[in-house]
Amino acid sequence: MTGGAGFIGSHLCDSLLSHGATVDVLDNFSTGFAQNLPTKVRTLWKEDVAAPPALPPYDLIFHLACPASPPRYQADPVATFRTAVFGTVAMLEEARKHRSRILIASTSEIYGDPLEHPQKETYWGHVNPVGLRSCYDEGKRAAETIATDYRRKYGIDLRIVRIFNTYGPRMDPFDGRVVSNFIRQALSGEPLTIYGDGSQSRSFCYVSDLVEGILRAGRVVRLPDPLNLGNPGEFTIALLADLLEEVVGHPLKREHRPLPEDDPRRRRPDITRAHELLGWSPEVSLRAGITRTIENFLERKPWGGGSGA
Ligand code: NAD
Ligand code: UDP
Repeated sequence: MTGGAGFIGSHLCDSLLSHGATVDVLDNFSTGFAQNLPTKVRTLWKEDVAAPPALPPYDLIFHLACPASPPRYQADPVATFRTAVFGTVAMLEEARKHRSRILIASTSEIYGDPLEHPQKETYWGHVNPVGLRSCYDEGKRAAETIATDYRRKYGIDLRIVRIFNTYGPRMDPFDGRVVSNFIRQALSGEPLTIYGDGSQSRSFCYVSDLVEGILRAGRVVRLPDPLNLGNPGEFTIALLADLLEEVVGHPLKREHRPLPEDDPRRRRPDITRAHELLGWSPEVSLRAGITRTIENFLERKPWGGGSGA
């Protein structure tokens, strides 16, 4: 697995290990943390996925390495694009050489600021190629392109999953995403920072649901086309703030900040394909997931500055 020390990757590691798999991880710890990694991981390569060491053959490669939070991926856009594209090419080469199955973590960001709602896999997207989010959005689009062409040209066994906003325990409290910001702020007595008027929407998927979807996508005999994985429940950011207030049980101050450039207005996955092909749909409600995530943030306090401890 690449990116196994990250938020989603570490949960996927746990799940694979609990199913009896042997797991090796390649991660450069740019946004991941050693303490996220289960001790049962067999080999850990602290390397850049875009320039990997000589790797042994694997049955299945889960390729997740890439920063995912907007402030983190915009901090070094050149590195982000390089990771998304060259990192994917490097892992596709591994899959081609060793005839490994490969699952690639793509994103709902490939739909950009969508003109079609909810987003089906057949929608081509509405993406700014030269904006602040482009290093990630276009990097992931290019990764899907090259991966699909590897399948056409070399016949590799490819699976592309388009992940929608995912949250849960082990998120880095300082990664700048809305769920981690809001929970950290609520637990520190700081105002919730709402970008814009809070009317933009997202669909939030709890991490255990997502991991189950990724496992099924890795296991199924054939998955010819990209697949959305996400929770179709859609919430405005203002509603997310209301829900957090209800869960913590006291009023929370709110502070409005400017809306970031190219911030998508709406986001909701159509998961018909995942349901039909994998029998998958998310089970954890936003309220239950946020409650568990708050408990995990509380267990990890004090967080220290910028660490995902
Ligand atoms: P994360 O930042 O917590 O994890 C990413 C991991 O990749 C980290 O451990 C990081 O150190 C590692 N990494 C980054 N660049 C690397 C490089 N060049 N070489 C080696 N390792 C590198 O992010 P996450 O939320 O766990 O996301 C995992 C994957 O899922 C990413 O590919 C992301 O694009 C995708 N995704 C996540 C979400 C989400 O809501 N979390 C949504 C859509 C897609
Ligand atoms: N957002 C917000 N306050 C924050 C962080 C984010 O209002 O403290 C908004 C952000 O503008 C976006 C939404 O929440 O509209 C989701 O942001 P996030 O960074 O979590 O994910 P993404 O934009 O990549 O979907």
